[in-house]
Amino acid sequence: MKLEIQKIIDEEKVEVNETLDFSKVEMPAMVVEPVKAKLIFENLGNREILVRGEIQAKLRLTCVVCLDEFDEELKIEVNETYIPQTYVENRKEERPIEELSEFTYTGNFLDTFEIVRDNILEFIPPYPKCPKCATKSEES
Ligand SMILES: [Zn+2]
Repeated sequence: MKLEIQKIIDEEKVEVNETLDFSKVEMPAMVVEPVKAKLIFENLGNREILVRGEIQAKLRLTCVVCLDEFDEELKIEVNETYIPQTYVENRKEERPIEELSEFTYTGNFLDTFEIVRDNILEFIPPYPKCPKCATKSEES
């Protein structure tokens, strides 16, 4: 859903419980179940928004060792600050943008779908190993 920045500013704190369908979204890993997201948006002032909460997703991954498919549940803790893109452009010199967990938004809303998608993308393992192969490599 699209959450208006003004609504967050007016209400100081907005809680969103959402189930998102990723079955038709192109992702590097298949999201096998609807994603559950519980997000709390807090007004930090200056149009900066703190997003906290939890995302639960189930991914179907292919093991890099045995090539078997397996499901892995992701539980992602969200703790990010969103600032307007225009602020970043204006202050480029005083503060580097590479700061961790700082994201930008454009326009007057935050899209929960984009937040959830970005978080899942960040947590998809680059070299997934199924539980069996993961145990084997730990032993050797
Ligand atoms: Zn394996």
